[in-house]
Amino acid sequence: MAGKLYLVATPIGNMEDMTFRAVRILKEVDLIAAEDTRNSMKLLRHFDIHTPMTSYHEFNKIDKAYTLIEKLKQGADVALITDAGTPGISDPGEDLVRLASEAGIGITSLPGCCAAVTALTISSLPTRRFCFEAFLPADKKEKEQILEELKTETRTIIIYEAPHRLVRTLKELENALGDRRITLCRELTKKHEEAFCTTLSGALKRYETVEPKGECVIVMEGRSRRDIREEEQRSWENKSLGEHMDIYLKQGMSRKDAMKAVARDRGVSKSDIYRQLLGEQNREEPPSRA
Ligand code: SAM
Repeated sequence: MAGKLYLVATPIGNMEDMTFRAVRILKEVDLIAAEDTRNSMKLLRHFDIHTPMTSYHEFNKIDKAYTLIEKLKQGADVALITDAGTPGISDPGEDLVRLASEAGIGITSLPGCCAAVTALTISSLPTRRFCFEAFLPADKKEKEQILEELKTETRTIIIYEAPHRLVRTLKELENALGDRRITLCRELTKKHEEAFCTTLSGALKRYETVEPKGECVIVMEGRSRRDIREEEQRSWENKSLGEHMDIYLKQGMSRKDAMKAVARDRGVSKSDIYRQLLGEQNREEPPSRA
């Protein structure tokens, strides 16, 4: 019978956050695949775990996945851990899960620490709807595209960042999205944990004099729907009725719904729009011959 793949979340800075189940599973499996075996050795020692370890990281994640899947097929139970937090979340794991799933291996995830969720919950920003952007990409074009998409994101946005890139990222966010409320969550679960509720400009001001230190999560407010609507409305002011209708028709709306939306934007009734459009159409038609 094939073995099982366990994704085991580990602490992000406080050993007391390890779960009983995580310790038991790490003791019971045949093999632990760890992002950095030297780093994970501290965790295993702390919890008196003596299971053999092998490395599974960014640079061997495909080849090693096949090796691990072979072992799983032969009946070995394997646990995947990373340096901190939940495997697969800005950490290796996604590819192994996909390939193991394709190979018909049973997979289970042991929930535990995740910096994104920990930061969101103490951010004082809306938690009902949120999106996780992980680290913004290093590639300039890709980053620009994501920043463009974030301009109209209405959910709370969570971004991971390393201390040495924090100021640059805050500047890029401010340039692309304008000033926004943010909460900078640093050193979560550690002695010097901090949730600094500020704005992008406020954070930049602070880091003019203080060097950013410690692992950090930026939690940023989404754009309000009202702001987006008002901005769209302003952009219609110089458009003809036909062009205004096209905006909605191109979004896939029916003619009737587009008329309703245009009427709402312009603060007039739908029948006014209908009449005006009819007028425009009649003016465009060539005069009929007698
Ligand atoms: N897999 C991890 C998780 O579940 O959160 C994330 C790993 S990712 C390589 C590392 C990033 O997570 C850091 O750069 C930082 O943005 C965030 N992070 C991890 N631990 C943190 C902590 N204790 N406090 C604040 N941010 C943390």
